[in-house]
Amino acid sequence: MIRECTLKDISDGRTYDVNDMVKADTGNCQGCHKCCTGMGTSIILDPYDVWLLKTNLNCSFQELLNKGNIELNMVDGLILPNLKMGEGDICSFLNEEGRCTIHHIRPSICRLFPLGRVYEGEGFKYFLQKNQCVKENLTKIKVKKWIDVDNIEDNRKFILKWHSFIRYVGDRIISLKKDKQSESINDIAMFVLNSFYIADINLSEGDMSLIYDMIINRIEKATKIIDETFS
Ligand code: SF4
Ligand code: SF4
Repeated sequence: MIRECTLKDISDGRTYDVNDMVKADTGNCQGCHKCCTGMGTSIILDPYDVWLLKTNLNCSFQELLNKGNIELNMVDGLILPNLKMGEGDICSFLNEEGRCTIHHIRPSICRLFPLGRVYEGEGFKYFLQKNQCVKENLTKIKVKKWIDVDNIEDNRKFILKWHSFIRYVGDRIISLKKDKQSESINDIAMFVLNSFYIADINLSEGDMSLIYDMIINRIEKATKIIDETFS
């Protein structure tokens, strides 16, 4: 979800690049799982998050929904998946010991926390969310070590491309709303859900590094289709 608010209100007032040091290291959380509970619908999943879940848990999008791992909600006119808070308002991936059972493939919002992203011009930076992590005395760590993603440059390219696609579709939905074309809005929302979440992206084991390219390619094709169909 794209939040419109001032950075000063929600951060320590600074922004960070991947090679900067930031006071975000929770020391392995040590039994705390506060940010895995009561998160409502806020842990929205991008196509890479869902691809990781489907591939590593060997299941379909529908099975993730059926098992109560994820749910669908409207976000700025789009239908997007988010991690579902289940019984006790707890993420279904948290085990009885209060540990994340999918730590190695956790979604990007979980991976970032307590950092967030702020988009500026053609790029983005990271910021430290104020009063979000309950642990005191967080220690310094390099941003890229904290985020701990493979191919950080490719990951960055994908994040920017996805962000700009979501903005583009959001603008398209706003103009369709003005023209009272609710059927087209539903069609776009379903098209995005099907193309980026429900449809599988099949890669053989040796080609896993191509996933970002594959999603970016889909974004380019989808933009063209939306342009041609809903202009
Ligand atoms: S609130 Fe902070 S310490 Fe607790 S689980 Fe989340 S990141 Fe870890
Ligand atoms: S996926 Fe893991 S880190 Fe993210 S909310 Fe669920 S249990 Fe917590």
